[in-house]
Amino acid sequence: MKIIKTPETLSRYLKKLKSRGNSIGFIPTMGALHEGHLSLIRAARQENKITVVSIFVNPAQFSPKEDLKKYPRPLNKDLTFCRKEKVDYVFLPRAKDMYPEGFSTYTCVEGLSERLCGRARPGHFRGVATIVLKFFNIIRPDTAYFGQKDAQQAIIIRRMVKDLNVPVKIKVMPTVRGEGGLALSSRNIYMSALEMQDSLVLFKALNLAKVLINGGLRNASRIISRMKELINRKQHAKIDFVAIVDARDLKPLKTISGDYLIALAVRIGKTRLIDNFQGRLLI
Ligand code: AMP
Repeated sequence: MKIIKTPETLSRYLKKLKSRGNSIGFIPTMGALHEGHLSLIRAARQENKITVVSIFVNPAQFSPKEDLKKYPRPLNKDLTFCRKEKVDYVFLPRAKDMYPEGFSTYTCVEGLSERLCGRARPGHFRGVATIVLKFFNIIRPDTAYFGQKDAQQAIIIRRMVKDLNVPVKIKVMPTVRGEGGLALSSRNIYMSALEMQDSLVLFKALNLAKVLINGGLRNASRIISRMKELINRKQHAKIDFVAIVDARDLKPLKTISGDYLIALAVRIGKTRLIDNFQGRLLI
């Protein structure tokens, strides 16, 4: 496994490998790797000759009030993890190489970036789209792997790639969950044992929605009310949003039909958790 810190070096290595016909699978991460990341790494390994993982806590996607400084950075553990999974290249850029002095070009996927999580996190998806596009230009992967856990992010990246004719295939892998259904996240370590218990309510609320939809309910606001009611029973839970939207444009649905996304963000104590369920109703 090679650990590479500068964009130029990584581009040079990968260009050579690509010219010899090797396919490249790429997984962008912010580190603190867990089984969720693992499923993306394994998919990339299976489908490509070369696997590249980036570990970069991207300052451009954090607002001044967010946890940039506090974000976990267990680098040695992450590198051992990657080595064990036979990752070929780990890209560990420094912020000053990704955003050198004078940096002033950003990618903004309009509309999609302002909805759902974009409301509470203005500028977040601009930061995500910008760093992902930069990585795509440095690495030139054949396929990039993202998690369904961050559904809005995956939808935005797909849109960006389509709109800007970026020659990368995007694959979205299912959400990996821990005991009780909590979606694995690097931020879960911020929670106390009691908060962890309350955090299971996100998955329970999604399951409630699924049961209601399977029972024939199509009225989005009624489903949302029932989900909110369930979540509000938890002492440590404070709802940011619960939404049922069209999975293509992330606009709210009144009546559930077609490709829909049920997404929620809930603060458990000080930790903001997100989760979602994406489904399709043909009638
Ligand atoms: P992060 O390090 O949190 O930026 O995540 C890097 C990639 O891993 C993103 O595409 C995430 O959607 C994905 N990911 C994070 N958690 C999970 C999970 N529990 N299941 C599947 N993918 C995940």
